[in-house]
Formats: sequence, C-alpha cells, structure tokens
Amino acid sequence: HGEFSQKIDYVFKVVLIGDSAVGKSQLLARFARNEFSLDSKATIGVEFQTRTLTVDHKTIKAQIWDTAGQERYRAVTSAYYRGAGGQCLFSDMTKRQSNRSCRQMVGGATQPCPIKNIVILIGNKSDLSTLRAVPTKMLRNLRLAEPFLLETSALESTNVETAFMTVLTEIYRIIS
Ligand code: GDP
Ligand code: MG
Repeated sequence: HGEFSQKIDYVFKVVLIGDSAVGKSQLLARFARNEFSLDSKATIGVEFQTRTLTVDHKTIKAQIWDTAGQERYRAVTSAYYRGAGGQCLFSDMTKRQSNRSCRQMVGGATQPCPIKNIVILIGNKSDLSTLRAVPTKMLRNLRLAEPFLLETSALESTNVETAFMTVLTEIYRIIS
C-alpha cells in the first residue's frame, strides 16, 4: 500500500517560525525526507512538505510550512499562519539573538503570532555543543511548558521525530 491508497483521517498544518539560518529548512528536510545538507541555500519557493504518519491509530497528513526566506524581511504574513494548528518556534542554540527573536515572537512584539494554542519551542543545533550560547535555562525563560521545549539537531537527527510528533499529537488532542 502506497500513500495513494491510504485513507487520510486528518490534515494538520504546522508552521515553522524563527530567524534566518536557525535550521528550519534542514530540520524539515530531516523529518520529511531524512535528508540534511550543510550548505543549504536560503529557502526559495518551497511552501510546504508533507509526511503521513499515525497518531492514536489515525492517519495524519502533516503539512509543514517553511518560510520561503521572508523571515529576513520580517514579512511573514497572516496568510502563512492561516489554517495552522500549531507552530514550531526555532532558536539556534549557538546564537543568542535567535533566542531573543523567539521571545519577541512569543510576546507578539514584532510579529503577529496568531496561533495561541500549540506552540513548541525548538532549540536547534544541539550537536554544536562547544559553540553553545543559549543554555536550557534561557530557553525555559520563554515560559513554554516543559514538554513543548525540545533541543534538536538536524545534523545528527536528534529529537527530530519527537519535536514534530509532539506538535502533531497536541493538535490531535485538541481536535479529537
Ligand atoms: P533556515 O534559514 O532557518 O531555513 O536554516 P537552514 O535550514 O537553511 O540552515 C542554516 C544553516 O545551518 C545551514 O548551513 C545548515 O546546514 C545548518 N544547520 C541546520 N540545522 C543544523 C544542525 O542541527 N546542526 C548543525 N551543525 N548545522 C545545522
Ligand atoms: Mg529556510
């Protein structure tokens, strides 16, 4: 049975948010295609990737949206968020500024942050431990509940499944 013969119970849209170069596109490439590239170009054109998986015996099609480089211009629009059930907010743990940006987004200071229900915070690049500038404590200061904070590495495939499964499972819990 390929994906074509599969009955889809739900389609969940999830959006990726965060500064440029924090690793959004690579974490998504790891999740959707098990791929990783060290010299990834700024995302152009790609709107979303999908992966079909099972949550609580239901077939869920995850539609994960990636900003096509607009984050640089602070131009992520409300159309990007439309219909989304959850968002993944990214920090690059080697860059403090990226964590400050997350705080501003959570506080709604610079960006409209319309999805208030499911927000998970991702501290990416956990493999670069010697360059780490954002301790776990600093991530926690964003006041997101513990299960919604994950330290990931797209390079080493650490916590990638867990991160996306967490947000998808939480969306499922809300709608079921
Ligand atoms: P985006 O702008 O947020 O989409 O960031 P990209 O996914 O394009 O990644 C930016 C850079 O960080 C690229 O050179 C990636 O190879 C690198 N990168 C992404 N994730 C990781 C990671 O987990 N570990 C390391 N060491 N590098 C990463
Ligand atoms: Mg990108």
